[in-house]
Amino acid sequence: MKIMHISPNRYHPCLWGLIKKQSSVHSVFYFTLSFSQGTTPKLAATYKKDKITYIEIKLGKTCDYSFDIGLQRLFNPLLKKYRPDLIHVHLFSGVNVIPILNAASSLGVKKILILHDHSLLCLKGVLHDGTKKCSIKALSDCNCGEVKKLAGERGMALSAYNQLRKEMIISIINMSDKVICCSYAQKRVLEGICGKSQKFVMLYYGIALPAIDKIIKKKDTYPVFGYLGSLHFLKGISVIEDALKRLRNHKYEILMGLRCNLDNPAEKRYLEKIVKYNVIKVLQNIRNREIYRDFFSRIDYLIIPSLWEETGPMTLFESFFCKVPVIISNQASMKEKIRGNKGSRVFKNAKELSDIMRKVIKGYICKTSRDVFKFKDIDKYTQEIELLYRDVIDRPSKTLKLKIGYLCNSRCIFCVTGDNHPKKFIDLPTLKGTLQKYRNTYEQVIITGGEPSFRKDFFLLIEFAYRLGYKITLETNARMFSNKNLCRQLEYFNLNIVTHIESFKPRTHDLTTMVLGSFNETIRGIKNIRKYCTSITIKIMLTRLNYKHLLYTVKFISNMDIDTVHFVFLTPWGSSYSYFEAIMPHYYEVRHFLTDALIWLAANSKLPVIIEGFPFCVVEPKFRDFLFEKPVKDKSRMFGIYPGKSAVHTYHIYKERLKQKKKFSQCGRCVFDKICEGVYKRYAEKRGSGEFIPIVKKLKIAQ
Ligand code: SF4
Repeated sequence: MKIMHISPNRYHPCLWGLIKKQSSVHSVFYFTLSFSQGTTPKLAATYKKDKITYIEIKLGKTCDYSFDIGLQRLFNPLLKKYRPDLIHVHLFSGVNVIPILNAASSLGVKKILILHDHSLLCLKGVLHDGTKKCSIKALSDCNCGEVKKLAGERGMALSAYNQLRKEMIISIINMSDKVICCSYAQKRVLEGICGKSQKFVMLYYGIALPAIDKIIKKKDTYPVFGYLGSLHFLKGISVIEDALKRLRNHKYEILMGLRCNLDNPAEKRYLEKIVKYNVIKVLQNIRNREIYRDFFSRIDYLIIPSLWEETGPMTLFESFFCKVPVIISNQASMKEKIRGNKGSRVFKNAKELSDIMRKVIKGYICKTSRDVFKFKDIDKYTQEIELLYRDVIDRPSKTLKLKIGYLCNSRCIFCVTGDNHPKKFIDLPTLKGTLQKYRNTYEQVIITGGEPSFRKDFFLLIEFAYRLGYKITLETNARMFSNKNLCRQLEYFNLNIVTHIESFKPRTHDLTTMVLGSFNETIRGIKNIRKYCTSITIKIMLTRLNYKHLLYTVKFISNMDIDTVHFVFLTPWGSSYSYFEAIMPHYYEVRHFLTDALIWLAANSKLPVIIEGFPFCVVEPKFRDFLFEKPVKDKSRMFGIYPGKSAVHTYHIYKERLKQKKKFSQCGRCVFDKICEGVYKRYAEKRGSGEFIPIVKKLKIAQ
């Protein structure tokens, strides 16, 4: 598996442990983000070390999800270059995830989001406005200084800005295949604001500390409390300070393992202040490897006084790993993790903390050596993540087929919708609404018509679908792309182009499209769009006009730097039905020419092939694997929609196709009876059943 991790917190202990584990079995690409104000996103370095490919990216910090085109343009080629199966985005405050998800979605890459803090919902990432916790029920409740400031910068009313934030969050969730919460409390808040979703999962962090090979006996006769963390005010170190002021004339110690930066004057000042308390001992920047020896082996209780709803915290699990009970502030996300541990305690304020500490000092509360310390190691965590990845990767994507109206600049004789009927496009707001409505269920969209590129608002439509996170396939005659300027505008949408060429002879193609010069335009269009799209599939619609020179058409097409050749036996609908006798060949007529073309392709080109509209019995055995129509497990995987002003026509593509097809009495004897769809009823009505000879197993003749 190719996994791409993206994180601004390079050495988060759980993430780092996970990456190291994964790198021994998977290809791991680690995108590390570092922020500096005003920087436009740029690639700083790429290197490989210990089986991990590091890609360092510098970017300007953002705290809302406004679209950053620079980030999109940076990530798009990188995703194309490394082609991961899955990206795992580690959401910490400041990561502008939308352009990353957009680029990945448009390439069909699966996406996992893990919420290391609350930045999905909260601009500060902590659900705390600086004075109190924010227990918001809806984003419309947000009114802290940060939200007001950003609304002001955008010139928006607070309510409109909060509504926009909500839309962006829904878009992020829609684009993600799974969203991992690090506590049940966090998941409840997310569900409360965004509604329940199968995508939300809860996984506690795993611990990646070295095994404790030697139990060190604590020598002190008095209790030692520990604190491990930074000096950020939300970590609540001031609560400990307040508590110890209430504990005069007691024999105890507080060992503080601080992650601090002495170049920061405020942190330096604070450190100088707390070391004046003679009960406090400070250890700075303890290395993870020595955390048991230097810290946990020396304390009786770890105090976690956080003022915010911690998502981990890692220190709690590390403490349990070292068999040290905790004294935690009254945060739901922490309380759920100490269930069953008798030695641990919860406090609401400094007074309650000092009361608990006093009881410990006086021996009223004792640690029990047989206590329950629940934590998981990094191996277990890696396995859980692996299962999640598998689930996401193995789940087939769902596709929405969106008809944008039937107006077209060609008049193909095989067109299933008939000749430009009705002669108008669906308006853009209706199409946008449809795309938005279905995004939570469908990851891919096939935009079809009529001719989508013939719309005046074509780019607006494509951009809208892209920004919603669809992987876009465009069914087009490619004629409009003969204009290079139009193609350039499509560069970052990673379109998958499906077009058609009916013959290597310009005249035959033009006769089929009923537009003189269309062949040359389509050929130019394909060449122009090549460097701006992800893939090109060329369909050959088999008619009486072209099937006899299929081999030459295939030779011509295979020289065109395309990705797939797709042979289509016509669907007798629209113009195909109106001109049935004139254009529809028999299967038996096509078979021989199709076989020659397929043999040539197999021998001379590596191009993948699709054969559509053929039952098994009219295709040579060795090419039956290429048949398009096969039974599918999830019959609603492809959903068609033709939105209109007054009525919306929707249909399940697979089920609808089956309704239009039929089998014959002889099919019961055929080995493919169970998986074959048969042929279109309209074809059978006109041509009968004589061409379809059941394939029966050869009898073994006894020697
Ligand atoms: S089931 Fe019928 S239509 Fe299908 S391959 Fe067999 S004979 Fe042909």
